[in-house]
Amino acid sequence: MSSLSDMPAMVEILPLGGFDHPLTYGAKPSLYETLQIGSLVRIPLGVRRIIGIVSSLSPNHSPPLDKLRFVSTLVQPEPVLSEELVDLAKWVSNYYASSLENTLGAMIPASVRDGMNAKTRKMIEVVSLPQPEVEQLLKRSPKQLQAYSLLSQQRGKKMDAVSCGKEHQISMAIIDGLIKKGLVRKSMDEVNREAYADQWSEEVADIVDALRVLTSEQKIATDEICEDLSKGKFSARLLQGVTGSGKTEVYCQAMEKVLGEGGGVLFLVPEVALAPQTVDRLRARFGTRGEQVVVWHSHLSAGERLDAWRRLVKGEARIVVGARSAVFAPVQNLRLIVVDEEHEQAYKQEDSPRYHGRDVAVYRAYLNNCMCLLGSATPSLETAHNVDCGKYKKSTLSQRIDGRELPLVHLVDMRRETLKQKKAPVLSQQLVEALRQRYENREQSILFLNRRGFNTTMFCTECGEVVQCKDCSIAMTYHRTDHYLHCHLCGYRKPAPRVCANCKSIEINRRGQGTQRIEDVVESVMPRRAKVVRVDADVMTKKNLFREILRDFRQGKIDVLVGTQMIAKGLDFPKVTLVGVIDADLPLRMEDFRASERAFQILVQVAGRAGRGDRAGEVFVQTYAPHESCIQFARRAELDEFLEDELAMRKELKYPPYRHLVRHVFRGRGEEKTRFYAEQWRKKLDSSNLSGIEVKGPAATPLAKMKGYYRYHLFYLTSNVQKCLLKIYANKMDFPMDKEIIDFIDVDAYQVS
Ligand code: ADP
Ligand code: ZN
Ligand code: ZN
Repeated sequence: MSSLSDMPAMVEILPLGGFDHPLTYGAKPSLYETLQIGSLVRIPLGVRRIIGIVSSLSPNHSPPLDKLRFVSTLVQPEPVLSEELVDLAKWVSNYYASSLENTLGAMIPASVRDGMNAKTRKMIEVVSLPQPEVEQLLKRSPKQLQAYSLLSQQRGKKMDAVSCGKEHQISMAIIDGLIKKGLVRKSMDEVNREAYADQWSEEVADIVDALRVLTSEQKIATDEICEDLSKGKFSARLLQGVTGSGKTEVYCQAMEKVLGEGGGVLFLVPEVALAPQTVDRLRARFGTRGEQVVVWHSHLSAGERLDAWRRLVKGEARIVVGARSAVFAPVQNLRLIVVDEEHEQAYKQEDSPRYHGRDVAVYRAYLNNCMCLLGSATPSLETAHNVDCGKYKKSTLSQRIDGRELPLVHLVDMRRETLKQKKAPVLSQQLVEALRQRYENREQSILFLNRRGFNTTMFCTECGEVVQCKDCSIAMTYHRTDHYLHCHLCGYRKPAPRVCANCKSIEINRRGQGTQRIEDVVESVMPRRAKVVRVDADVMTKKNLFREILRDFRQGKIDVLVGTQMIAKGLDFPKVTLVGVIDADLPLRMEDFRASERAFQILVQVAGRAGRGDRAGEVFVQTYAPHESCIQFARRAELDEFLEDELAMRKELKYPPYRHLVRHVFRGRGEEKTRFYAEQWRKKLDSSNLSGIEVKGPAATPLAKMKGYYRYHLFYLTSNVQKCLLKIYANKMDFPMDKEIIDFIDVDAYQVS
C-alpha cells in the first residue's frame, strides 16, 4: 500500500489553449513543492501538451481519480504572474471583452511562456593554495602549471573563461584540468542581454549636470504628489504642464521618493522609439547610482525580453520604461505608475486584448493601492472630465522653464494663398520666407505633416467647410462607386454635393492635396546647401536610424526636419526657432468625433517644439479653417478654454467622455452576407430591451474592405460598459450567426475605421 505522502496533490490550472475555465490536474509531491499561484506549467490536454497557469493549489491529498492527469513540468522557476497581475488579467478580459487567454498572452512575454532559459557564461577564479601543494598537484603537467601561474596574477578576480583563455592562450582543456584539480573555481553567471545598453548618449553628462533647483511650480507639484505617495493609498493625478515646463523633473522627484522607500516604478511612454531622450534622462538620473532601468518595447529580442522580465521578477531592477504593454511588467512592490503624454492614442491597443494602456495603468494603481501620475500639455477629454468630477486630482505647471515665452503662432490662411497662387500650394509664401530666413541665421526648422487618412472626405477650399453628418457631427466619407457620402457611424447617406452648402462655391474638393514628396518641395525652395531630412514610418522600422537622425539634428547637421506625428512628441532641441504645420486642419476632415481634440493637441504639441532655447520661437500654421474654434484656441494656447468648449460639445452629443463608446465589428468575405448579418443583428437588438444603450449603425467602415474582408460596424453608446456587454452576450446566445462571419467588440474604441 502506498503511503499518504505519495498521493498526488490537486492543482487548478488556467490552460492557455482554447479553454476559458480552470481544469484540475494532479501533481506529484516533488513537483507540487515547487508550485506557486501564478506558476507556469506544462500539462497534457487531449493528445496535445500545452501550457497553463496555476490558479489555485490544494494541499489536500485526495485519492487519485481514474482519469486524473498530471502536470508534466514546471516551465519557469519564478511564478509568471503575481496575484495582483492575475486580478488585473481578469479585469482586463472582462472590461475589454477579450478572452482570458488573449489577455494572459499579452501579459506574459512569449519567451517566458516558451520556457526559454537565461543565457549563462562560464566564469573562473583562481583558488589560493600554498605553493608546495600546487607543485605537488601539477608535478606531472607542466602546461597546467604554466597556465596556473599566469592565471594567478589575476588572483581574487572572477574572469570570463572564454575570453581569459584567449588572452593568455590557454586552451579550455587545460582550464578544465585545473578546475578538476580544485585549483580554479568555476561558476555559471547569468548574462544580461540589455537593450540600448550601448546607447548612453553623449548628452548624459549635461543631463546629470542639469540637476538644478526646482521652480516654484515644480516644487508645489512635487509636494502635492509626495503627499499623495505618503498616504500609501490609491490616487490618480493629472500633471498638466505646458510644453517645456519641466514635467519630467517632477516625475523624477516622485520616483526619487518611491525608490528611496524601496518601491518600484512603472514609466509609460506612448512609444519608446519616440522617447529616447526620456530614456536617457532616466538612465542618467537613476542608472548612475546603481538602479537598473529596464527598457521594455516591441523591438526587444526574445532573449532581451526574458532577461528584462527576470530582473524585474527577482526585484533586481525596479524601474521599467516602456510603451503600453509595459503596463503589465512584473514590477515588484509597485508604488508609482507614470503615464507620460497620457492623451496619446498610441496607448490604445488595436488587437485583442483591445485595452487602453492609460486606463489599465489607473486600474493597476488601484489594485496596488498606489499612485498613477498622468502627464500632458494637452490632456485627453477623458482625463479632463475625470478631473472635473473629482476622480483625479490635478497639479499644474503653467510656465515654461526660465520663463521662456511660448512661441508666437501665425495662422496662414490657405484659402487666400490658393487664390493668390491659382492652385492649392504645399507651402505658403510666408512659410517659405521664414524657412529661408532661419537658414541664413543658422537656426533650425521643423516642418510637420499630419498623417493622412485612407479615405476621402469633402471640403471646400474656398471657405474651409467640411461636409458632416447632420446627426453625428463627423466628416462624411465619399464613395467613388455611387458618388454618395456615407456617415460611417450611423450609416446615413446622401449624394455628394456639387456646390458648397456654406458658400455656394464649386471648389468643393474631394481629393486630398499635396501628395508631392514634401521634402522635394522644401528642397526646391531652399538654398542648395541646406540639408533637409524626412522622418517617416520607414525610418522608425530601422532600429537606430531615428536616434541617429535626432543626434544629427541636435548637432546642427540638419537644417530642416520634416515628419509626421513622430516629431511632434517630447523632443527638445534648443536651436529650433521655427515650426511649420503644413496642414493643420487635416484632422478636422477625418471622420472622427475626436477630430477637434486631435487637431488641437497636435498643434499645441508641435508648437511646443519651437523656442526651447534662448531664442524665441515662431510657428506658422497653414489652414483652410482658421475660424475653427480648436485652431483659434491652439493659436492662443488656451487649454482650459478649449477643454471647456469641447466638453460642452461632447456633452451635448453625449459622446465620450460622457458615455462609453463600444464598437462592434462584423467581418466577412462576402459583402452582402456581412451587411445582412450586421443588419439582422441590429433588428435583434431593437426587439430586445436595451434601456440605457443607444445603438448606431450598422454602417460600412470607412475602409470598407481590409485584407480581403468586408467590414460593417455598429456603435453602442452607454454609461455602463458591463451592462452593455452582458446585453450583447445575452442576445448573441440565440442569434443565428453565420460561421463565415466573425465579430469582435472594441470597448472605449478610438479607431473608428
Ligand atoms: P516638458 O516635458 O514639460 O515639455 P521637460 O521636462 O522636457 O518639459 O523640460 C524642459 C527643459 O527644461 C529640459 O531641458 C529640462 O532639462 C529643463 N528643466 C527642467 N526642470 C528644470 C529646472 N528646475 N531648472 C532648469 N531647467 C530645468
Ligand atoms: Zn465653401
Ligand atoms: Zn451619422
